[in-house]
Amino acid sequence: MSLPTTPETEEGACVISTQGLTHRYGQRVVVENLRLLVRAGAITGFLGPNGAGKTTTISLLLGLLKASAGSTEVLGLPPGDPKALAQIGALVESPALYDHLTGLENLEITRLLRDLPRAETDRVLGLVQLVQDARRPVREYSLGMRQRLGVALALMGQPRLLILDEPTNGLDPAGIQDMRELIRRLPLETGASVFLSSHLLAEVEQVAQDLVVIHRGKLRYQGPMEQLGAPGRAELRVQVGNTAQALAVLARAGFACHEADGRVLVQAPLDAAPHVAACLVAGGCDLYELSPHKANLEARFLALLEGP
Ligand code: ADP
Repeated sequence: MSLPTTPETEEGACVISTQGLTHRYGQRVVVENLRLLVRAGAITGFLGPNGAGKTTTISLLLGLLKASAGSTEVLGLPPGDPKALAQIGALVESPALYDHLTGLENLEITRLLRDLPRAETDRVLGLVQLVQDARRPVREYSLGMRQRLGVALALMGQPRLLILDEPTNGLDPAGIQDMRELIRRLPLETGASVFLSSHLLAEVEQVAQDLVVIHRGKLRYQGPMEQLGAPGRAELRVQVGNTAQALAVLARAGFACHEADGRVLVQAPLDAAPHVAACLVAGGCDLYELSPHKANLEARFLALLEGP
């Protein structure tokens, strides 16, 4: 079977493309005129505050809801087309699991229904690192393990596109960390493109290369993650024993810097970090921390949420 062709962006093939996508609940427009171009082979963060329209958009992409207007292609096919759905793995809200059955048995049910080889169950268990717990009943699973089993179900059949709707919602910090590492590995280990929704910038910032921001159903940003913060200058944040001393040392070395909240902010890109550290140490400063300053990204994201 030949794979459907997909529209191209400058960066490569698109797994999702929409034009004028709109959805109304009654009179209320909750997704408005969205033009999405999601490229293949990447993790795309789909970011917006609660109520922004993320789940509605995802439901439209999967054909679970019918759009009020606009055109949509997912893997080059209309949403809900069985040929597209056969190549999409989705986790929308919490997975439907049989609690009295083991993780392995839950996967086997889907595998048998879809007539996949036995090795597929072992493959997805390995990917989500549930091999050790596969023979325990799901009722004994933590929320994080349940979510990972949900991802394993979505990975069955080697989908080309994985759509995950707020997969870390309700997880504890360890569960969030496990899920983050799992998502990060997926494009490399499975070749799948990932479309990941979240209401938290910090959640997608750490895993996604591309970003789509929506607010009140409208597109606010689409592009590379790092360009979201681009209007601001690159800064490094430095924590030292004596701030005044560090400011003097850095100014002497030619860096533009100022103090903020007890830290020194240096106007310099990340690749200048070793030089900044060397200057501080040579100048006799006690250096406790040096990291990229993220306020630009956060501030720009918040600015996108202002206005109507
Ligand atoms: P998000 O996933 O970004 O939190 P949703 O897509 O769930 O946002 O919701 C977008 C808006 O649509 C919200 O204002 C929500 O209250 C509304 N909404 C969601 N589902 C329904 C529904 N079945 N009927 C009416 N309004 C809905």
